[in-house]
Amino acid sequence: EWDAMVRAPERPALPGIKHVLVVGSGKGGVGKSSVATNLAVALARAGARVGLMDGDIYGPSVAHMMGEPGGRVRANEERKMLPLERHGVKFLSMANLVPPGQALVWRGPMLHSAIQQFLKDAAWGELDYLIVDLPPGTGDVQLSLSQTVNVTGAVIVTTPQDVALIDAARAIDMFRKNNVPILGLIENMSYFVAPDTGARYDIFGHGGGKAKSAELNLFFLGEVPIDLELRAAGDAGEPVVASHPESASARALRIVAENL
Ligand code: ADP
Repeated sequence: EWDAMVRAPERPALPGIKHVLVVGSGKGGVGKSSVATNLAVALARAGARVGLMDGDIYGPSVAHMMGEPGGRVRANEERKMLPLERHGVKFLSMANLVPPGQALVWRGPMLHSAIQQFLKDAAWGELDYLIVDLPPGTGDVQLSLSQTVNVTGAVIVTTPQDVALIDAARAIDMFRKNNVPILGLIENMSYFVAPDTGARYDIFGHGGGKAKSAELNLFFLGEVPIDLELRAAGDAGEPVVASHPESASARALRIVAENL
């Protein structure tokens, strides 16, 4: 039954939504959610109508990063989920549906139906972009999504380290096998410039993202430095591109958004 569901040949586009962009990574902790959130806010600040869907059902971070960790999703008259809205972006996260501290223990088909509902039973309205923050890796959610809607493209986030790059290549392979175009690769945590001395440190190495892009014939979308302001802004629910638009990471993220 599961196979029949995910392998359905129909790939309808979502009504009212021009582009669905998925943000993926091979490894966790590389900054995928931070990048997805900031790209969404950057595109909204540039004038686009943007939604942000938290596809990480088991480890949702979008609600917190958008500054609504305790917000509750309500239904409209048509019994569709009303996304929350902040920083000019509509967003939907499992964290706003399930009380904090409560674990979700779901099998594949339930995960699939949660993704379907986030996409189809939510009142997104008219959007230029729906950005989807995927869970790390190459699992059920990735398949479910790429096989049920017309994904415009995938953005892959990696750090410069080999361990991250190897897993990024797996994620890229998965998208390619599912005929999802790859818009490009982002190297996050690319370098660190000490704010007091100006000295630069390549803490996780540097340049691996660009090299991997060339090797796999992908567009390189840009590098984002390690930035205290990005981390603090994310924790505070005030995405850095909105709260510290002149910081090094915000400037880098705007360049990535323009490259999309
Ligand atoms: P993922 O979604 O890949 O698991 P997150 O976006 O949740 O990663 O980031 C993991 C942690 O690293 C968060 O605390 C985040 O604030 C921090 N982080 C991500 N990117 C950067 C960066 N460029 N500079 C500083 N901290 C970062």
